[in-house]
Amino acid sequence: MGRSNEFVARYRFTTGEGLHLADMDPADTGRLMSKQKAQAALAKGIEKLSTLQERLYAQDRWAVLLVFQGMDAAGKDGTIKHVMSGVNPQGCEVHSFKVPSTEELDHDFLWRCVVRLPERGRIGIFNRSCYEEVLVVRVHPELLERQRLPSGLVGRRIWKERFEDINALERHLARNGTRILKFFLHVSRGEQRKRFLERLDTPEKRWKFSSADITERPHWDAYMTAYEEMLRGTATRNAPWYVVPADHKWFAHYVVAEAVIAALEELDLAFPKVDRVREKELRRVRTELMAE
Ligand code: ATP
Ligand code: MG
Repeated sequence: MGRSNEFVARYRFTTGEGLHLADMDPADTGRLMSKQKAQAALAKGIEKLSTLQERLYAQDRWAVLLVFQGMDAAGKDGTIKHVMSGVNPQGCEVHSFKVPSTEELDHDFLWRCVVRLPERGRIGIFNRSCYEEVLVVRVHPELLERQRLPSGLVGRRIWKERFEDINALERHLARNGTRILKFFLHVSRGEQRKRFLERLDTPEKRWKFSSADITERPHWDAYMTAYEEMLRGTATRNAPWYVVPADHKWFAHYVVAEAVIAALEELDLAFPKVDRVREKELRRVRTELMAE
């Protein structure tokens, strides 16, 4: 087990057993790791990621899917921006899932995510995802109404059924060479308040503030319950959840980077080998170029 792997194992869940959000401290900084140390390690990690991604792309066997979930202002955008800053944009696609369009609502709830899945050799990043379907939709039942499902199909078991369907999709993807990592950026209610105030007080951040953010705050407990059930119902070996302490952005960035590095290192990525026939051909081309 590599060094990254050992460190992130504390935040990784491959089963829902024993997963209680209340036991996890959003302000955790990994046994008092210092901010400076984490930032220096992150800079190194970003370089490593860049090399690993080059190999992922060249090898063209595996795809990688990174899913980010979290309450508003949990730091999804910032984490994606920092952790992926060294990655070649050609091998990486980010997609942000917003309120579904009418076209999207006319399809099954996984459809819009499925069409955005990364190709082999690529890293796909989901900023929010089909998990919203068991979070915001669960907290606001009127959103489920809008999906126009036949009434006989909507019962008390619907959330559990959605967990099963998501798990089945993720297992299918894993079997076809997509490595999935899911990050829940775990921010505290107090820290969210602080960040909202910062957005309101800083002119460059004000655009980020949406009044909808405030309307969700009274539902905090309902969200936490939905998150916990979702984490417990969908943490699997094929697609583990990382519960990332996110009150300190520098720590969250570090944990996510280490988790991605550990997962990529496990894939045994290597540049494709050139066979003998091709090698001969390349030597001939080289001689020709030299002779010009
Ligand atoms: P920011 O951090 O900039 O606020 P954001 O991801 O919150 O980014 P917004 O446009 O503010 O982006 O919000 C997207 C909204 O879409 C969220 O409130 C989210 O809950 C909602 N949403 C996403 N997926 C679904 C879905 N399947 N059904 C209903 N609402 C959804
Ligand atoms: Mg928002």
